[in-house]
Amino acid sequence: MKITAIHERTVPISRYADPDIPPGGLDTSAVCVVTDKIVDGEPVVGFGFSSIGRFGQGGLIRDRFAPRLLAAGGELTDPATGILDPFRAWRAMMIAEKPGGHGERSVAVGTLDMAVWDAAAKAQGLSLARFLQDHPGVATPGVGDGPVPVYAGGGYYFPDEDLDRLTAEMAGFAADGHTRAKIKVGAALLAEDMRRTEAAAETMGGTANLAVDAIYGYDRPALTKAARAFQDFGLWWFEDPCDPLDYPLMAEFTASYGPPVAGGEATFSMADLKNLLRYAGLRPETDILLCDIAHCYGLPEYLRMIGAAEAAGWDRRAFWPHGGHLFTLHCVAALGLGGAEINPHNFQPFGGLIDGQRIEGGLVSPPDLPGVGFEGRAVLIDLFRDILRNEG
Ligand code: MG
Repeated sequence: MKITAIHERTVPISRYADPDIPPGGLDTSAVCVVTDKIVDGEPVVGFGFSSIGRFGQGGLIRDRFAPRLLAAGGELTDPATGILDPFRAWRAMMIAEKPGGHGERSVAVGTLDMAVWDAAAKAQGLSLARFLQDHPGVATPGVGDGPVPVYAGGGYYFPDEDLDRLTAEMAGFAADGHTRAKIKVGAALLAEDMRRTEAAAETMGGTANLAVDAIYGYDRPALTKAARAFQDFGLWWFEDPCDPLDYPLMAEFTASYGPPVAGGEATFSMADLKNLLRYAGLRPETDILLCDIAHCYGLPEYLRMIGAAEAAGWDRRAFWPHGGHLFTLHCVAALGLGGAEINPHNFQPFGGLIDGQRIEGGLVSPPDLPGVGFEGRAVLIDLFRDILRNEG
């Protein structure tokens, strides 16, 4: 089994479901990895995208990493199964790459890696979660294919009627079966952020069901005030309070703020994660690691990151990967991680579950469709098929 073609497109995405709100200029890369494996009369095609939050990576995909996969030909086949081996594909992409220099490169590799796993699982007719459970080097004893705890990501600032719209958004999450949610803080006056946190928590049944994400928004003086203000809220977690590479400030914050802190969304490799765990003061007994699988070179590197965290005294259930989409949901289930973000209406068409899927009491299983199950999400599979037809 080999890869015969790779198609790629940069796709704009918005933080908001409402098309009248300016989307913010974010985009992502979507890829189609075509193989020579025929199932039901059609070539198996894997789909992937650059998760959410770090922009598209079309240049690196087109010029560097896709050509390496195509050049590897049959070397990507696992001789034991006769199908594509994602670990061989990963090594082919990383030929001659030096340590360091993560960030954009790690996102480009993670994008293609997602599509390779999708193709490999489809070639065996298994959902990705089930494929992962049986895969050498991935299998995690004692875990299944769901259901797993999830939370709804959202709560971005609305340009007008913010509190009313935020409350309505949270009510929608609860009506969909979500029991926990996350909102944004750090970009408004502290008093306003406290009001929106209280309003969201009230709708979600209390502050213990609500996380806040400052998206690195605080400098030292502002963070000191915010830590004091939120100290007694009893929040589920407080996410990314300051610049992600300012480990001393993060350590100062975690030392003064008792409740759970979440970090690592801007971590792109095992080496990055080791530094975060060494220097940012995060506490294995309480804190949360958000590293995004597709932003961290994909699953092969993520498995090493989990191993590094466990060696440093962390439980893998501390990992709640950022992303909010189907690929992450499969990985959380199969690897026994803590839980997954879901983006019910942000970042479409990539965020969210398959059409009609229900969340029950804050829990959901990955879809039992071949591969990631993008085919179960009409708006998304329509996009991938359009890329397949129209992009070279
Ligand atoms: Mg975040």
